[in-house]
Order: sequence, then structure tokens, then C-alpha cells
Amino acid sequence: MAAARGVSYLLFVLTVSLCTGKQNYPTISHLKEEGIDNDSEEPNEPPDQLIGDFGNFESKRLRTDSKKRFKCLSCEPPDCSGLTECHDALQCWKSRVRDSDGVERVSRGCTTVPDHVPFICGSSSKSGHTKRHTGGQYAMDCCEGDYCNNGSFPYLANANFVEKVPHDVSNIGYIVKLALAILGPVLALGAIGTIVLFLMRRTHRKRLMAARAMADHDPFYASDEVLRATAAGDSTLREFLDRSMSSGSGSGLPLLIQRTLAKQISLAECIGKGRYGEVWRGVWHGENVAVKIFFSRDEASWNRETEIYSTVLLRHENILGYIGSDMTSRNSCTQLWLVTHYHPLGSLYDHLNRTTLTHHQMMKICLSAINGLVHLHTEIFGTQGKPAIAHRDIKSKNILVKLNGSCVIADFGLAVTHVQSTGKMDVGSNPRVGTKRYMSPEVLDESINLDCFESYKRVDIYAFGLVLWEVCRRTVSNGIAEDYKPPFYDLVPSDPSFEDMKKVVCVDQQRPIVPNRWASNATLSGMGKLIKECWHQNPNVRLSALRIKKTLVKLASSDVHVNLDLDS
Ligand code: ADP
Ligand code: MG
Repeated sequence: MAAARGVSYLLFVLTVSLCTGKQNYPTISHLKEEGIDNDSEEPNEPPDQLIGDFGNFESKRLRTDSKKRFKCLSCEPPDCSGLTECHDALQCWKSRVRDSDGVERVSRGCTTVPDHVPFICGSSSKSGHTKRHTGGQYAMDCCEGDYCNNGSFPYLANANFVEKVPHDVSNIGYIVKLALAILGPVLALGAIGTIVLFLMRRTHRKRLMAARAMADHDPFYASDEVLRATAAGDSTLREFLDRSMSSGSGSGLPLLIQRTLAKQISLAECIGKGRYGEVWRGVWHGENVAVKIFFSRDEASWNRETEIYSTVLLRHENILGYIGSDMTSRNSCTQLWLVTHYHPLGSLYDHLNRTTLTHHQMMKICLSAINGLVHLHTEIFGTQGKPAIAHRDIKSKNILVKLNGSCVIADFGLAVTHVQSTGKMDVGSNPRVGTKRYMSPEVLDESINLDCFESYKRVDIYAFGLVLWEVCRRTVSNGIAEDYKPPFYDLVPSDPSFEDMKKVVCVDQQRPIVPNRWASNATLSGMGKLIKECWHQNPNVRLSALRIKKTLVKLASSDVHVNLDLDS
């Protein structure tokens, strides 16, 4: 180790002297010419610690001091031209140095200062030695004897080797080993991770493709996996639709199938145009479905309605049956679809415009509609419970008539939910407001307490009172029925403003007129009374949905013309 440092030092001296033209640094020749007995002040003397490394350096010097002196040949690098002699040498030497650029220089000289002997010739004074160094390579032959440093210069290993390995090989080996030790495990772990990820993705993709392929063929012929994730269970499309028809709405199709809905449905005809988009009749696997296509600017309504329809336990025979939602891109335009059961008779508004009603038909409509509203307003407790929901846009256009003459409540874009145990009310983030014609006095004069869920239910009841009025006008008694008219038809213009409605409903406290002919019929007069309790100016005294239902059941049971199964 110490010898190696000495050699490094020597090589440094040699290299610097050769590269710099030996102007500033003493070289071996300088040592020979100038510093023979200037040993202690030597500027390039190895540092203290280096000397300290040479264990018996002092004793060696004492030994060399008393040694025999020789005459040696001396010549200058690079080509050893101008041969001279040097005297009083402790050792003669000849050297060959190859710098890092591969340029070789040869020289001869002698060592006269005992302290320099270990640096120049190492511990073995007679034998030659070679050394590679980061800056180059050298070979040095030292000898004792007059002119013993004549003859050929020492051999130096192939320069190519040095060029190829410019750094200390042992260091490089160490660095490589170290790098391998650190990088090896990291790379191995990375490779294993990549393979695992790749395999997982491939499996996932395969499953997805399989499920989609099956869904394309028949959504309910899908893999077990898909079906198990659904409320639909193992059923065919027809069974699913039938069950949905009878049991009403719920959480809809499995999400995976919902995502492919738009691709599978062909739109047949536009059946409704609302403020928030269009409703189309579509055909899905041979079945008619209703497709509500929202304007992309009304994403909040689509979101809200999808959210509400996905509510656990919402499915009910008097809530529009939900099939699924899909967000698709057509002609680079985002389309938001909400797919529900299709009801060819359309809305109650359409139905009342088309036809008059018997008492039986009127009661069926009113009872089924209030059944839907009771289900909506009622919270079902338990872990798999259902929140209470207020609709906030009850009107005859948002109630659909089924072929059997009963109704379902539709259009949940504005709904609010409430969970009693947590007190949490979710009003959604829809900027949409209810229909002005059906707005209650407290909404119009903005006295409504928006933080109280009960307020929203009372708003629904007010609007439901107006719907009952629309229905009863079309109910024949004594062979007579009124024309279809929307509420306040005689008091406000066709598209009333907020102010128009406020003046009529809040300031003048007007309500639709209850026709005189109703008084002559027990059921209709009972209905008139009920309706007035629904649209009362004071929200707190309005009836609850459940109370309305009970009153209707009572009226229906005492009407001989009504033949309904009233037990449910
Ligand atoms: P909007 O949010 O634009 O008011 P709705 O859901 O109320 O949309 O639907 C608008 C109209 O489209 C309804 O009044 C009704 O005439 C028709 N419609 C909606 N859904 C159906 C359906 N499932 N079956 C038949 N007609 C429907
Ligand atoms: Mg609507």
C-alpha cells in the first residue's frame, strides 16, 4: 500500500514533468541536477502521512547513506537524447513512461538522495517494476553498478490495454460489483413488478372483453361475475324487465352493461321534449325503452337523476323503472343517456289531454301516484335502507301513465334526499329550479326553510294537489267533465314568469277553481276537500303523502264505481 502510494507519487512527478516541459516542477533530472543533498526542503516531497506510511523508511535511509556510490548514464526524455553521466549515485535507473494519450518517453538517470530511493525504485532496488496509473503507465529498471542503466529500456505492456482501461482496473471492478449489487435487486424487482402488472392487466382486459362480447349478444347471458354484481340476479332480459315493470324502479342494470347501453339501443322516435333534453323511444334487444338524452350542458341533471335512480330500494311499481345510464360520444359530442321503461301512453298531462276518466280510472291514477309519492317520501331504516326523497318537480308531465292505467313518477333531476339518523340532506348541485306553474307560495315568496327536509316534502304536496285538480276536472260525473286545463290557466299566461306566479299564488292567494259540479258527487266533493288541504297557503297544515293516500283509499272504498284492490 505504502509502496503503491510512493509509486503513484513518482508517476505523478514523471508525468507532470513530461507534460509540462518540466518548468515548474522538479523532475528526476532536476533531483539529479539540483536537489541531491536538499532532501528536507524538497517541494515535491511526499506528504508527511505518506512518509509515515513507509514503516521503516528512516532505517532504510540510514542504510543507503552508508552504501557504495556509482556512476550512471543520464539522458532526457522524450527520446533520451544528449547522453551524460551522473555520479555519486545510490542507484542507476532507466525508465519508460507512457502517458494517457499513449505517447512514450524514455530516460536514464540516477538516485543520489537516500530518501528518493524508495520512491524511485521501490523496495526492490535491483529488479524492474511496472505500474499502471490513471494518468498513464510506466516501467522502471533500477540497478546498482557503474553504468548499469545502459542497454534497452524496460518493456511496457501493450498501450491498447491501457487505452481500453483508462481507470484503475481494480477500482472499476469494485464499482461494477457495487453497481451490480445495488442495481441488480432493483432491476429484478422492477422486472417482476412489470410482469405481474402486465399479467393482471391482460387478465382484466380479457374478462372485460368477454363480458362485453356477451353483453353485446344478450346482456343477461353475461358471465356469472357480471350477474352476481347486480340486483337483477340470474335472469333473462324479459324476466328482468317484467320484474322491473311490476316492482318499479331500483338500481338498474349492472354498471358494465350500462356502459354498453348506448351502443345496443337504436333510437326510433322522439316522444318528448323537455327543457333539459329530449326523450326518445328506443329499441333494445327487441324491447321498447325510453331514452332521455340530456343536453351536455345539463350534466348536473343527468348526474342527479342517475344518482337518485341508483338509490337502494327505490324500485317501486309507481316509480319509473330505471334500466341504466350511459355517457357516450357521438360525432365527437358527449351524449348523456338515461334509459328507463317505456310507457306508450306518455305523461299524465298527455293522457288527460287525450281522454276523460271514469271514477275507477281517476282513482287508479290518484292512488298509484300517491303510492309512488309515499314511497319516495318515506325513509326505510336499516343498513340497506332508503333515504327519504323529495321530488321538487311534481307535475302532470312528470307522471307517466302505464298501459294498465296506473301511474309512475318520473324525472328525478331535482330530487333531494334525507337520512334521519345522520341528519344528512343531499340537495345535489343542480342549478335547475322546479316548474313555476307548480311552485308553492313559500317557494315563490322565498320564505321556505331550505335547510329543513320537511319543507321540500310540503312543496311536493302542494304540487300534487294541483295534479289531483287536473285529474278530477277530467273525471266524468253525471256525464260531464271539464276540458283539460293546466293549473292557473285562467290567471297566468302560457309560460308564466316567477313574478306572475308569485302575484297569483302569494299576493292574491288564488288557487284553481273547484267546479260546482263536483259538489254533487260524493267522491269528487271529497276530492275537492282533499285537494284544498294539499295546496294550503300554510305549508305546515298541508297533509302528508301518507294521509292523502289514506283519504283516497277511503274515498275509493266508498265509491261503488271504483273497483280496486285497496289492501296494498
Ligand atoms: P324533462 O327532464 O326534460 O322534463 P322528462 O323525464 O320529464 O324530461 O320527460 C319529458 C317528457 O317525455 C315527459 O313529459 C313524457 O311526455 C316523455 N317521457 C319521458 N319518459 C318517458 C317514458 N319512460 N315513457 C314515455 N314517455 C316518456
Ligand atoms: Mg320533466
